[in-house]
Amino acid sequence: MAATVPSDTLKLNSAVPSGPIQEKWDKHRFDLKLVNPANKRKYDVLVVGTGLAGASAAASLAELGYNVKVF
Ligand SMILES: Cc1cc2nc3c(=O)[nH]c(=O)nc-3n(C[C@H](O)[C@H](O)[C@H](O)COP(=O)(O)OP(=O)(O)OC[C@H]3O[C@@H](n4cnc5c(N)ncnc54)[C@H](O)[C@@H]3O)c2cc1C
Repeated sequence: MAATVPSDTLKLNSAVPSGPIQEKWDKHRFDLKLVNPANKRKYDVLVVGTGLAGASAAASLAELGYNVKVF
């Protein structure tokens, strides 16, 4: 039998932006904090998988100045 959890103890915070659904993505993009170009090398980005998407993401992020590690 599955354990029951009182509904007030677990709260899902999906961080969905407020506002009409058609504006959520734009709102999220405008609210994102930008990374100063000088600080990009301070961030380690881990990419798992060296296929099409992984290699492409790793190359693009490295070109932008992030410290990329690919596995
Ligand atoms: C036989 C074949 C022919 C194809 N021909 C074409 C074509 O002519 N033109 C075309 O546009 N598309 C073609 N495709 C489709 C194309 O290859 C895929 O759509 C594309 O490679 C998908 O890219 P991806 O980055 O999502 O996945 P993938 O390129 O498959 O990359 C996934 C990577 O993750 C790695 N990986 C998986 N699990 C782990 C793990 N736990 N830890 C570390 N690494 C992991 C894998 O080793 C792989 O390198 C073909 C596919 C096949 C199978």
